[in-house]
Amino acid sequence: MDVITIPLFAGQTNRVKTYVDPHTYEDPRQAVKEFTKEIDVSCITIEAVIGGGEFGDVCKGKLRMPNKGDMCVAIKTLKPGASERNRLEFLTEASIMGQFEDPNVIFLEGVVTKSNPIMIVTEYMENGSLDTFLRANDGKLTVMQLLGMLRGIASGMTYLSEMSYIHRDLAARNILVNEDLVCKVADFGLSREVEYDTSEGAYTTRGGKIPVRWTAPEAIAFRKFTSASDVWSFGVLMWEVISYGERPYWNWSNQDVIKAVDRGYRLPPPMDCPEAVHQLMLDSWQKDRKNRPKFAAVRNTIDRLMQSPELLRKLAKPITASMTDPEMPEVTSHMTVSQWLQLIKMDRYTEAFAQKGVHNMEQVAWLTFADLQEMGVTLVGHQKKIMSSVQSLRARLEGSTSPLHVSEGFLV
Ligand code: AMP
Repeated sequence: MDVITIPLFAGQTNRVKTYVDPHTYEDPRQAVKEFTKEIDVSCITIEAVIGGGEFGDVCKGKLRMPNKGDMCVAIKTLKPGASERNRLEFLTEASIMGQFEDPNVIFLEGVVTKSNPIMIVTEYMENGSLDTFLRANDGKLTVMQLLGMLRGIASGMTYLSEMSYIHRDLAARNILVNEDLVCKVADFGLSREVEYDTSEGAYTTRGGKIPVRWTAPEAIAFRKFTSASDVWSFGVLMWEVISYGERPYWNWSNQDVIKAVDRGYRLPPPMDCPEAVHQLMLDSWQKDRKNRPKFAAVRNTIDRLMQSPELLRKLAKPITASMTDPEMPEVTSHMTVSQWLQLIKMDRYTEAFAQKGVHNMEQVAWLTFADLQEMGVTLVGHQKKIMSSVQSLRARLEGSTSPLHVSEGFLV
C-alpha cells in the first residue's frame, strides 16, 4: 500500500502575520467579527470600577469560561448613549488587540456586542499602568528589575513592529504591569489614521494631536511615524522607567522641548543610571532615524546588559534637572534654601530644612543622608534627588569639578 505523507503544516511559512488596519474595512463591524471573539454577557461578573477610560468605566471582574473556571479580567465598557462613531472607535481597539498574541502585549479575551453596555474584556493586570506604578514605588526597585520590565516592553514592541504595527503613543502611561512585574504594551485605542486626543496631545499645525515629549522629531515635523519613531518613544519610556516616572523634560513647555531637541539637546541620565543604559537611550534618540537600533536590537542589548551585570556597574555622571535645563539658573551658593528646594521640586521640605537650622547654601553643601533622615526625608527617591543636587553644589564650591553646562555631554 502506498503511504501518502502530508506535510503537517502545509503551506505555512515562518513569516510573522502582518497587522491589518481595521480602518481599511468598509464596514468596521466586519473587522470586529474577524478579529475578536463574542463573549456571552452571562459569563461576566463585574466586581469593581478601577478607572475611567476615554469611552466609559474600566472595571475589574471575572470571566467564566467553559471548562476553565474563573479568570480575573479587566472590562472596558462603552458609556450608554455613546454615538455610533464612538461605538466603532471603541470596538476598533478590540479589533486591533485581537490580532496580537504575545506575552508582552495585552491579551484580548473577547468582546460583548450583542447586549448593552458593550464591553471589551482583556487579561487583568494587577499593578495597573506603569507610570502610576513607578511613582508609587519610587526608589524601591533594583536596576535589574527596572531593566527586566524594559526588556519585556522591548520584546512586545519587537513583536508588534515585526507585524508592521506602529504604536505612535508608546509611553509609561500606556504600559500595564501584572503582579509578577511583567509589562505589556496596551492602549491601541487611538485611531491611528485620524486625529486623536489624549491628555498629552498637543495640536500640530495640521490639526492632529501628538504626545510631543515622546515623539520623534520627524513624526512631529512631518508626521513620519514608523517603527523607528516608536524606538525614539521607547528611549523616552526607558528614561521614565529609570527615573521612576519623572516627567520627561520636566516642566518645560512643548515648544521648548521641540526647540531643545532640534538643537541637539537630549535628556540626561536619571539618578543612578548605568552609563550603558543611558547610551541605549541616546542611540534611540539619533536624529537620523536610520541610525536608531531596531526593536530586536534594543531587546538584545538589554538582554546582554542583564546577563553581564558588570556592564551596569559604571554609572553615568549624574546631572540634576535644574542644571540641564537651558532656561533654568544653575544651583549656586547665592540662592536661598527655599529657592533651591523649589528648583529641584522638593519644596515640600522647606519647613523641615528651616527647623533643622539649614539657612544657607553653604550649609546645604555639607548635608548627609543621615541629616535628611533626621529631617524626615525618608523616601529614597527624594533623598537621592536632594543628595545629587547637594553633591554637585559641593563639587562646585570645592572647585574640584568644572561647572556642568548643557553643552557638556548630551548634545548630539
Ligand atoms: P485606559 O482607558 O486603557 O487608559 O484605562 C484606564 C485605566 O484603567 C488605566 O490607567 C489602568 O489603571 C486601568 N486598566 C486598564 N486596563 C487594565 C487592565 N487590563 N488591567 C488592570 N487595569 C487596567
